[in-house]
Amino acid sequence: MNIAIIAHDSKKELMIQFCIAYCGILCKHQICATGTTGKLVEEATGLNIVKFLSGVQGGDQQIASRIACNEIDMVLFFRDPLTVKEHEPNEMNLLRLCDVHNIPIATNIATGEMLIHGLERGDLDWREILHSNR
Ligand code: PGA
Repeated sequence: MNIAIIAHDSKKELMIQFCIAYCGILCKHQICATGTTGKLVEEATGLNIVKFLSGVQGGDQQIASRIACNEIDMVLFFRDPLTVKEHEPNEMNLLRLCDVHNIPIATNIATGEMLIHGLERGDLDWREILHSNR
């Protein structure tokens, strides 16, 4: 599965800890990320991560365009809801595209845990069927 990860600055440490904890599951999948999140998680876990531009430079839009092409199977986007970001409209677009294409997305660690366990259990295997029917 192709998994995209994004974390706002105040949630980056949380994302790192999450990825360390679930490294054994994540390593079986392809991971892509916005620039800084990807770099930090890669350094902390040794996972091989495709890194796009940083969020402010449009990395979230690069991920959004892949969601639009149905190339992403799951998104972990740990958001900071308390700080206003300049590129917030782009991030809202990313959430919208996940809804358009029915892509599972977690915007906090509680949902992230459920998605990752579901992934390991095979709950998202329907995505593979969808890919093979293309
Ligand atoms: P970053 O982007 O991983 O490059 O920091 C995420 C964000 O928009 O904060």
